[in-house]
Amino acid sequence: MRHMIQKAGCLLGFSLLFSAQTLSKPTASDSLSAPAFEVVVLGDSGGIEDGNLSAFLLRSLTETHYIALDAGTLVNGINEGLKQGAFSDLALYDDANWQPAGNILRHHVKAYLLSHAHLDHVNGMLVASPEDSAKNIYALTSVNAMIGETYFNGKAWANFSDRGIPPLLNKYHIVDLPPEQAIDIEGTQLKVTAFSLSHPVESSAFVIEHANDLFVYFGDTGPDIVEKQGKLDAIWTYLAKQMTHKNLRGMIVETSFENERPHNLLFGHLTPELLMQELHHLAQKVGGDKPLSDLKVLISHIKYTMASGTNPRTKIKQQLDDANDLGLEIIIPQQGQKLLF
Ligand SMILES: [Zn+2]
Ligand SMILES: [Zn+2]
Repeated sequence: MRHMIQKAGCLLGFSLLFSAQTLSKPTASDSLSAPAFEVVVLGDSGGIEDGNLSAFLLRSLTETHYIALDAGTLVNGINEGLKQGAFSDLALYDDANWQPAGNILRHHVKAYLLSHAHLDHVNGMLVASPEDSAKNIYALTSVNAMIGETYFNGKAWANFSDRGIPPLLNKYHIVDLPPEQAIDIEGTQLKVTAFSLSHPVESSAFVIEHANDLFVYFGDTGPDIVEKQGKLDAIWTYLAKQMTHKNLRGMIVETSFENERPHNLLFGHLTPELLMQELHHLAQKVGGDKPLSDLKVLISHIKYTMASGTNPRTKIKQQLDDANDLGLEIIIPQQGQKLLF
């Protein structure tokens, strides 16, 4: 009997030790735990269709406040989300002065995080600004400066911000993000750490954090092998270090062009092959066997085309699936779609 108890105790001890080990190092996507983040796709493409340009809402599931990751398309994306029931668990009529889209944009979107100044990433915010509520705009210093000079200048658009060329309408408070430093996002429970990315103008990646959970958003970026600045390598190093004690729940990353696109015509963008190469660098740094297995990778910025022939979305998905030896869960998102991470 005593022998049996000892044996059971030993087994129990072993299983406790085993689960403790399992718990101590979270995997890329811990399928046992409940989702931590929600993403609503406001714009899924990198051009050329106005009304569906790069923009994603993200929130922690512990609150009803979103941040906007880029804002190429805003109101059209919110309306698309409403049609598809993406906001069904939010209060859409609390403020009777506004329709549901107004309630979402004015009361539930608390901040803009803008990766870079290209029009396809800021257009929705600019045109919605007359009916928007006051919020903070977070971006790297050079990105904020370029948005101020290019759009909030009283020529391309009125200056709705609190900085730069007068008259200032003071609706948006501009916040410069210090690179590689975690900052609280006002009005939310989230933190952001910004990284610089290589693109014809400075672009950025945002590592979003809530409790022990991480999500990473990439603005437009070229691969290190072409750009030769090691900027993605710096993010992979940071993420690999974070992943020793935190869960990386997912990422949004661009794949603008098909593999056939020559490297000298990428203009700071990725192809399926180059994205997979970069994700292999992350996997190497994390270490272990298939460390990114089941990681949700949402593909943004696929170039829409009016040309006849194969749809680039279909081809890019095929090329990513063919190269996916890391066990990633690759998602080609649709405008208006809600996804959990
Ligand atoms: Zn773009
Ligand atoms: Zn761009």
